[in-house]
Amino acid sequence: MLFCSTRNKEMNVPSAHAILNGLADDGGLYIPHTMPEISIEEIGKMADYDYHKTAETVLKDFLPDYTAEELAEYVKNAYGIQFDTDEVAPLIKVKDNMYSLELWHGPTCAFKDFALQMLPQLLPAAARKCGEDKTVAILVATSGDTGKAALEGFADVNGTKICVFYPHGGTSDIQRYQMVTQTGNNVNVFAVKGNFDDTQNGVKAIFTDAEMADELAENRIMLSSANSINWGRLAPQIVYYYWAYSRLVKNNVIKTGDKVDFCVPTGNFGNILAGYMAKKSGLPINKLVCASNENNVLTEFLETGVYDRNRTFHLTTSPSMDILISSNLERLLFMLTDDETVKNWMKQLKENGKYNIGEDILNKLHEEGFIGFCCDDNDTAETIKRIYNETGYLCDTHTAVGVNVAEQYKISQSEDFPMVVVSTASPFKFAPAILSALDEENSGDDFEKLANLENAVNKKAPAPLAELKNKTPRFEKVIEKDDMRSEVLNWLKGR
Ligand SMILES: *Cc1c(COP(=O)(O)O)cnc(C)c1O
Repeated sequence: MLFCSTRNKEMNVPSAHAILNGLADDGGLYIPHTMPEISIEEIGKMADYDYHKTAETVLKDFLPDYTAEELAEYVKNAYGIQFDTDEVAPLIKVKDNMYSLELWHGPTCAFKDFALQMLPQLLPAAARKCGEDKTVAILVATSGDTGKAALEGFADVNGTKICVFYPHGGTSDIQRYQMVTQTGNNVNVFAVKGNFDDTQNGVKAIFTDAEMADELAENRIMLSSANSINWGRLAPQIVYYYWAYSRLVKNNVIKTGDKVDFCVPTGNFGNILAGYMAKKSGLPINKLVCASNENNVLTEFLETGVYDRNRTFHLTTSPSMDILISSNLERLLFMLTDDETVKNWMKQLKENGKYNIGEDILNKLHEEGFIGFCCDDNDTAETIKRIYNETGYLCDTHTAVGVNVAEQYKISQSEDFPMVVVSTASPFKFAPAILSALDEENSGDDFEKLANLENAVNKKAPAPLAELKNKTPRFEKVIEKDDMRSEVLNWLKGR
């Protein structure tokens, strides 16, 4: 199975190359020429598999350059004792015909661990397979969650180094503390004076700096990114769709071959796209319901076929979904059309902030099972409180958007398939918003709020969050945005 770019279907590169490069040279995203097929017999057998075996089975088809032995080893490393349950991703019944797939039992208590515990295994091996023996240095600009998940994934991984930049004063107390207390001999973290865009532009400038690349190459170092368009992040996310389905089979909710719905809290479109890859490779999925917050560019797009980023940007209580350009959507568009069409739309998006896919492609999107709904912060808070009071199940803000949207979707349908809401973060990661949704005491710093939430719901916060306040900060440096380049260079060259 070879990969091409969403902007050039003549391209033929192996998966290792796609993972090492991240983004194709023409600005497109890597995508397999043909989807692998997983048979219904194999899917039936998954009911008896654990998460590791499911991951090995699914990944071998999507990462053909890696041997079965390599994948088994990586899966064991990625989804090991750093997860607080052997199930890795428990499927919990919330209410009648609605289930929550909890993807937050890993080291940073959010779903990005599924990709970012795996990518650090895949990346150094990809470099070796491509005949590259340089150290791979990962640079990340983050507004909070991705930075920590990447640090945790790459810490002390041989052949890699990782440096994270976050906007000074632009993260929550807990997010900042998670990053500056990171352990590992190959990690570094800087606060940058500026906002997230300044930070991201700084990192982009470093990536396109040819002089810097040469200087690093002389020191046997190459730069790479860990952002969510990398195939090495997408592939591990396909696994948990198969896993959720096989748990429903195991628990006799469905028989192998029956259809289910998934509802996915969406930002950059990576998670829900992985669901589509699962569907295209054989998993019996009826609808993929795209859940958005007030930044509802995707809801409108799935309704009208017009993608229009020219709108007010809202800061919401589900910050990881506060996105106006959903990069991974490009892969879906390519799968429904062709490279020239995608290139044209992406050009329009860049120049006018807008494109229209037209009625035929919109119909195709709907036939493929995509449908979108959104809800605002008030609805999100109402959902958290109501679901908790009625069922005892506590959702984080992102998951609550998913539950609210799943309910809207169910009301709009005549058929009732089992619904899996993809739960993307622990409620304790967003304690202030949860406390206020539950009308509980919401004062003090983030650590006091964490304790307040523990008392209010009579549950312990996950250990990685609870233990945070006893850790010692290691990275206190605040730098000017113009100094990002020199700081990285000095660090990588060991000065
Ligand atoms: C990143 C993130 C999302 C959005 O996922 P995408 O793959 O970007 O669509 C949703 N919820 C949480 C908690 C996240 O961290």
